[in-house]
Amino acid sequence: MRYHKIPDETIRRLPIYLRGLLFLSEAGQQSVSSRDLADFLGANPPQIRKDFSYFGDFGTRGVGYKVDTLARQIRKILKLDVVHKAALVGVGNLGSVVLAYQGFKVYGFDIAAAFDIDSKKIGRKISNITIENVSNLRTLKKRKIDIGIITVPRDAAQETAEALVNAGAKGILNFSPCYITVPKKVKVITIDIAMDLARLPYYMPSS
Ligand code: ATP
Repeated sequence: MRYHKIPDETIRRLPIYLRGLLFLSEAGQQSVSSRDLADFLGANPPQIRKDFSYFGDFGTRGVGYKVDTLARQIRKILKLDVVHKAALVGVGNLGSVVLAYQGFKVYGFDIAAAFDIDSKKIGRKISNITIENVSNLRTLKKRKIDIGIITVPRDAAQETAEALVNAGAKGILNFSPCYITVPKKVKVITIDIAMDLARLPYYMPSS
């Protein structure tokens, strides 16, 4: 099911709610009020209620939200209720760390393949994944991989994005510090830690 007119900001917050709910579930908590969920996440209760209202009424007055049910619903909305296979391109320092990170699995992501251009790296194994020649990217569709993760240097990012799209990628997580252009049907999310760091001093008190 596709929900229309949901603000991007709401969609951006849903994974944060999900993360909190998964934590509460692991701690054995079965229900939570919007106030407690808000306190736990550093959010505000009306915001949470408004965000959830886009998808119907999840809570019960006086009881709050059922933790597992709500987590399941959010997964469904975000389409995280199925496993998504991803391929990582560029197994350098950053790529190796991303490949080894175990924190994606809980959200249903499986980094199933890794590619590089460097013949010294091809054939090596990281986290049980054998690094393949980037020319193998064309096998993605056959392997049901539809997400690409880009960790190549900036000057190789655009061509890598194009290769991923040609291979059938429908979503790209871009760690390269640049803007990449892709056809409209493909969603790109860029993560650039340096950009977040670069706005931090502005908010810091001057000493
Ligand atoms: P290292 O020194 O191990 O290469 P690094 O993180 O400093 O690590 P980068 O120059 O940032 O290396 O490149 C990241 C990775 O991307 C490297 O493994 C490099 O071989 C790979 N790479 C560069 N260009 C491409 C490309 N066009 N396609 C696939 N992989 C590429």
